[in-house]
Amino acid sequence: MIKVGINGYGTIGKRVAEAVTLQDDMEIVGVVKTKPTYELRGALDAGFPVFASTKSKVDFFEEMGVKVSGVTEDLVEIADVIIDCTPGKLGVNNMDMYRKAGTKAIWQGGEKHAPIGVSFNALTNYSSSINADFVRVVSCNTTGLGRTLYPLRQKYGIDNVQAVMVRRSGDPKDSDRGPLNSIEPVLSVPSHHGPDVQTIMHGINIQTMAVKVPTTIMHVHCIIAELDSEPNVDEILGMWESTPRVNLVEGFLNKDGDKIRNLPGTAEIMELARDALYTRGDLNQIAVWKDGVHAFGKKLYYYQAIHQESDVIPENIDAIRAMFNLESDNMASILKTNKALGID
Ligand code: NAD
Repeated sequence: MIKVGINGYGTIGKRVAEAVTLQDDMEIVGVVKTKPTYELRGALDAGFPVFASTKSKVDFFEEMGVKVSGVTEDLVEIADVIIDCTPGKLGVNNMDMYRKAGTKAIWQGGEKHAPIGVSFNALTNYSSSINADFVRVVSCNTTGLGRTLYPLRQKYGIDNVQAVMVRRSGDPKDSDRGPLNSIEPVLSVPSHHGPDVQTIMHGINIQTMAVKVPTTIMHVHCIIAELDSEPNVDEILGMWESTPRVNLVEGFLNKDGDKIRNLPGTAEIMELARDALYTRGDLNQIAVWKDGVHAFGKKLYYYQAIHQESDVIPENIDAIRAMFNLESDNMASILKTNKALGID
């Protein structure tokens, strides 16, 4: 059993912790919190040992009646791997601490690729992380782009990709985020998403733009991929149908299989995830609107939606397997993780 510690128990950290407990080859040995906020309740209920981020915080936890098992450095000593889910650009400061303890670490997409050196997506480049000590699981948007572009590249070849990311303003729990009534473009072009895809799909020619909109539940990508040969939409739908962690979504079909209602938007997609009783009502899969896939010449147009809080969770599990070489074949790890998490 690989001993896993979680540093930063927020949106991503708590979901990774829960996912680890569902695997048969890894276990949670502790989680780090900076303070006893409402989110600590879930860790205590799950029975996870709690570690304070620093010595100066220990009294605060104890005053609130929370017994701590030590501080971050203690967890780093015990764990075989730390999943660093602290806020973006902060986590990389912990690298020396992990290195000194000889503990492997996984960071999230809020960190830059360069200091970590290996970026990870289970479908596109699993093997780059086999036996690696430090790995970065790419962001929710990059994960989504990788999952649908990879099969296109394998089958047709990709000349270039142009994509617009329509980004949620914050997660549902982020009461301090915005915009509330505005649409904010990212003015530098390309946005960081395109270059980030190149860290998991080397050499791909992709440029992206991005806007932030007042919604919290999902991101949407509008993608134009120019392929090396003319795409066949039915064939591509079939490919995505069999791609793990990609779901085609559509509206209501009548008994003859005729479409009588389209699936309008992200609100309905997340309602379907809740109806399917996925854990937390999360959607680990990338949702592609089946009726929004079109081809003109060599260009393929499609829309996809990303549940930002959860698509990277199974990727963290697969990254652990790769780093300890528990599984050398990416599809074997993906299917094992999917089965444990109930991803169809
Ligand atoms: P979050 O704010 O929900 O959680 C971060 C947690 O870390 C909080 O509980 C915070 O109290 C804690 N923390 C802060 N400083 C700490 C420290 N010094 N030591 C230990 N804990 C500390 O953030 P998040 O959304 O979970 O993001 C974590 C990482 O995951 C970031 O790199 C982010 O870019 C990435 N990510 C986020 C999303 C998303 O949509 N939320 C999606 C994919 C990747």
